Amino acid sequence: MVMAKTVILGAGYGGMATAVALEKSHQPFTIINKHEYHYFTTLLHEPAGGRNQFENYSVPLRDVLHRAESEILVASVNALRPQENKVVTDSGEVDYEYLVIALGNAPEYFGIPGMQDNALVLRSLDTARQVHEHIENTFKSWQEDHDDTRLRILVGGAGLTGIELCGELAEWMPELAADYNLPLEKIELINLEAAPSILPMLDEGLREEARRVLESKGVQLRTGTAITKVNPNQVELKTGETIDAKTIIWTGGVRANPLIKEAGFEVDPKGRAKVNEFCQSVDYENVFVIGDSAWFTGEDGKPLPPTGQAAEQMGSLVADNLIALQNGGSMQAFHFNNRGTLASLGAEVGVGSVKGIPAKGVSAALLKEATKVKYLWHLGGLRMLSEKRGQFKRKG
Ligand SMILES: Cc1cc2nc3c(=O)[nH]c(=O)nc-3n(C[C@H](O)[C@H](O)[C@H](O)COP(=O)(O)OP(=O)(O)OC[C@H]3O[C@@H](n4cnc5c(N)ncnc54)[C@H](O)[C@@H]3O)c2cc1C
Repeated sequence: MVMAKTVILGAGYGGMATAVALEKSHQPFTIINKHEYHYFTTLLHEPAGGRNQFENYSVPLRDVLHRAESEILVASVNALRPQENKVVTDSGEVDYEYLVIALGNAPEYFGIPGMQDNALVLRSLDTARQVHEHIENTFKSWQEDHDDTRLRILVGGAGLTGIELCGELAEWMPELAADYNLPLEKIELINLEAAPSILPMLDEGLREEARRVLESKGVQLRTGTAITKVNPNQVELKTGETIDAKTIIWTGGVRANPLIKEAGFEVDPKGRAKVNEFCQSVDYENVFVIGDSAWFTGEDGKPLPPTGQAAEQMGSLVADNLIALQNGGSMQAFHFNNRGTLASLGAEVGVGSVKGIPAKGVSAALLKEATKVKYLWHLGGLRMLSEKRGQFKRKG
């Protein structure tokens, strides 16, 4: 059986999982992505914080999707036209019979004035590079004017992204101080979080452990501290306090890619398209929506939070469902298999839980490394594992 024309939008965790599974079943598809590579979003804090070279955090799509029938279109999707079975890209219009939307997320600014214009974000390889270069250039020029706000970094948000970034930046600071002859005692790394605690998805003991580790590395964690406005090089807090800093990074939340809402799909307050138990849009039965783009209600009646592991699992299931749908078979319902959460706190230490078992310290860091190995294996087997694996080690 050869499938009808299937188009996948986005080559992140969800889109790649669908594409890899379709290839394994010898089914043709077109995957449309902004770049000719797939990047490892869950690891972006590592190159942003100087752990390793940026090239190690992406892989060309053709190195994963080998079959000639797998068409790769490098283009930006500008609009979705589900009523006409079309997507509009900057390279022209593309028709489909079945569509998989895996376009990921956009930052959630919660309407905080000035945040979008004055803060950096960490959500793609390009933005990770911007964070890295901005900090390096800002620190480097301290020698010109001795302006200490150059040596202050503010990270908004203490979820997984903000905390992992702080862990990585904390380890980079001594290196930067040595490279540019900066006073290490003047470097400040401050995390600002409106909620009462960091890493809300973890148990209290693990949250406390993460706090202890980060504070021992010099990170100032200010929970219960809401940002109300961001000016160029300055944040204003609910308390009335202002903090000046030349580097402000926002990691406080995500919402779905805005193209989904613009196309008229039924969406939740985060702009995610409502899907049924098969990850199929409730509006169009030939459209599947996965990952951070999908509003999927879990078995507990709550919307599934956006994670890479959910995106991957949905992606594989949707490939099977696409085949079943066209083959007269029955589609399978999605059941999220929560493998747990692991947060790195720098290269050698982590915190988290796997299948309900808590892990901290070096063992959590090793478990996190194991998830990288597993992912590389899933993408490209032994060859990809041997090519990429060694490159993840901290630069010497
Ligand atoms: C620093 C960091 C750490 C994280 N750590 C974890 C973790 O430990 N565990 C976990 O489960 N999750 C983690 N996450 C969350 C996880 O990365 C996301 O939930 C996951 O990437 C979502 O997968 P997705 O396929 O929906 O979207 P993505 O992986 O974001 O993929 C979307 C793809 O669509 C492409 N795209 C977007 N717009 C367009 C367009 N208009 N045209 C063409 N292409 C487009 C993008 O370039 C990208 O390739 C982390 C995220 C960050 C930023």
